[in-house]
Amino acid sequence: MLEVKKVSFEYEEASILKNINFDLDKGEHLSIIGESGSGKSTLLKIIYGLYDLKKGKLFWDKKPMLGPNYNIVPGEPFIKYVAQDYDLMPFITVEENIGKFLSNFYPRKKKKRVAELLELVGMTAYAKIKPTELSGGQQQRVALAKALAREPELLLLDEPFSNIDNFKKNALRRDIFSYLKQENIACITATHDNTDSLAYADITMVLKEGKAIAFDNPKTLFETPKNKYVASLFGEVNELPKSLLYPDNSSTKKVLLYPHQLEVVSSSSLKVKVKKSYFQGTHYLIESVRNRKPIFFNHNSNLHENQEVMLSIKA
Ligand code: ADP
Ligand code: MG
Repeated sequence: MLEVKKVSFEYEEASILKNINFDLDKGEHLSIIGESGSGKSTLLKIIYGLYDLKKGKLFWDKKPMLGPNYNIVPGEPFIKYVAQDYDLMPFITVEENIGKFLSNFYPRKKKKRVAELLELVGMTAYAKIKPTELSGGQQQRVALAKALAREPELLLLDEPFSNIDNFKKNALRRDIFSYLKQENIACITATHDNTDSLAYADITMVLKEGKAIAFDNPKTLFETPKNKYVASLFGEVNELPKSLLYPDNSSTKKVLLYPHQLEVVSSSSLKVKVKKSYFQGTHYLIESVRNRKPIFFNHNSNLHENQEVMLSIKA
């Protein structure tokens, strides 16, 4: 089990992480979401052991994890870290890169393992090719396979699918995360893409300016977001005064509503003017305004610019 206790961190002067605390069990998947610059990559690097901590402690199975002042080669041996740059050797092939840390003592076993990993990341056809000839997304796949080669106990992934086109992303994501579960490998992913987190994470930590402002399973975070920052990590969100939605309510409180929670009705107290319609495949996302403030809602057809409609909370 990983234990992160009261970890704070600063690079030079500016404080980057503030009092981060959490535990992660074997085989569990934590996703860290937050806007760019919130400290996601820094936290992964600290857990991997690239920086020494002045405040806070890390433990793995109750044993302290120490930084570069104590380890000659930075990084704990049972952890693999796939950075935002992929760190592949340019002059050897994809299969040699993946097998780099596997023992040459059992060549047949090594060959089988490399083949299995190539298959997992969908790169079998590229085994004999050098990384320099691959696209960013393909290099990202090879880096994943390389990190998994020696079955780490904890895998740290920094924006792991950022360069992989949507066409292949979903299948790869399904395969990787079910492989990790099957092998009981704990995993922490840092991402600003909510879909990395919604379907696959057991727990999600929301980082804002170095603080963990929410920590829960992704479904709960999505359905009952604490504030607009949390909700906006899942897409567009509206923050509307209660009095506007419920005319007999004089409360000054505001409610957070996703576009799918609003619908066009024949009459209501919430009248908006359409600005733009964005085709989303299964529906349109409509951008509208009310008192110069934007309101987003979903609709099954395209609406015309300047058309006025009434909205209400979907039953
Ligand atoms: P994220 O991964 O969430 O985008 P980072 O952890 O990369 O965030 O960065 C958090 C903050 O720390 C940013 O303000 C960034 O500019 C700063 N930072 C990151 N790396 C360094 C560094 N090596 N030296 C100084 N400041 C850094
Ligand atoms: Mg980052």
